[in-house]
Amino acid sequence: MKSSYKIFKIKGISVELHVTFLLFFLLLLVSSHAYFLFFALIFTIVLGHELCHSFMAIREGIYVPRIILVPFGGLANIEIPENPKLELKVAAAGPAFNVAILAICTAILLFTEFSFIGYSGIYDVLDSGAVNLSPDFILSALVMINTMLVVFNIIPAFPLDGGRIFRSTLALFVDYMEATKFAMAVGKIIFIGMIIFGILRLDFWIMLIGFFLYVTGDNEVKIVGIRHALSKLKAGDVAIKELHYARESDTLHDFLDNSAKPNVRFYFVKDTAGNVSGIVDIFQIHGMRDEVSTKNINEIIIGPQTIEVNASVKEEINKLMSSELTIVLAGSKIAGYITPEVLTDIARFYDIRRHYG
Ligand SMILES: [Zn+2]
Repeated sequence: MKSSYKIFKIKGISVELHVTFLLFFLLLLVSSHAYFLFFALIFTIVLGHELCHSFMAIREGIYVPRIILVPFGGLANIEIPENPKLELKVAAAGPAFNVAILAICTAILLFTEFSFIGYSGIYDVLDSGAVNLSPDFILSALVMINTMLVVFNIIPAFPLDGGRIFRSTLALFVDYMEATKFAMAVGKIIFIGMIIFGILRLDFWIMLIGFFLYVTGDNEVKIVGIRHALSKLKAGDVAIKELHYARESDTLHDFLDNSAKPNVRFYFVKDTAGNVSGIVDIFQIHGMRDEVSTKNINEIIIGPQTIEVNASVKEEINKLMSSELTIVLAGSKIAGYITPEVLTDIARFYDIRRHYG
């Protein structure tokens, strides 16, 4: 069974409803039409909020594949690079939407004949169970919903928007990872408080939201940690240092008989003076039939790209992933080599360590 269902697509973003969201709405539909409409209003606002985050992200060149609506909110799938200024813009765009709606509704209530029915008025309508589509109710409900969302998202607790704004502002002055941990520490205090409050008041909803925010926040901090770990790695840290050699003067046949090993793909070719003149990729020999006994190693030699031993893996990631092999140089000496497979394995290592470490 799929876990979420697409309802529409906008600007390349797939807007999806999580299966728990559908169940929740079905439950509301059979129990109270008034609450059903009220929550439909909430989720329209939540969707607008998430779309604002997403549109800002897209404007900044970030790919946003999907938004998933769950019973306690919306989750926009936005991968923001370690860039505090960018994050600040994307994080602020969501609450800015709620502030705008709040301002518009307040203005309408102030300057027209429509009037605010108060929070008790809203609850009266909801508890009566009758569907009420009067402008007074809709406008009042919009004021209530957007006020709640603004207040909730101003709390400087990661991963709430306020926490993200807090983190990125801090990160302008201190280390990004430290800023993240600090914002999450604030989050943990608040979310544990919400869980305890929920238990004491038997408010299942608050307890669940507190728990959910704690877990997602904690998880995201770990992911930031992985990226951060990768960002600190230098080419020399990830290079394969065990080198295998081939003689330039050998024929391919001699090479296969004497130097080649079943578990090694790349060989550094040495000339008679012992200097490395290039690389042989054993895969290139595949399919060469008779030529193997006549062709010389130096005829299939490749001169791959190079990188300095102190270069940052994170900054050079595209270069490193685009070539089958990159030689890592320490001055003029070969320190090792990097392949895309090695980098994939390292990313997997950090992923495994995140889950079980
Ligand atoms: Zn948001």
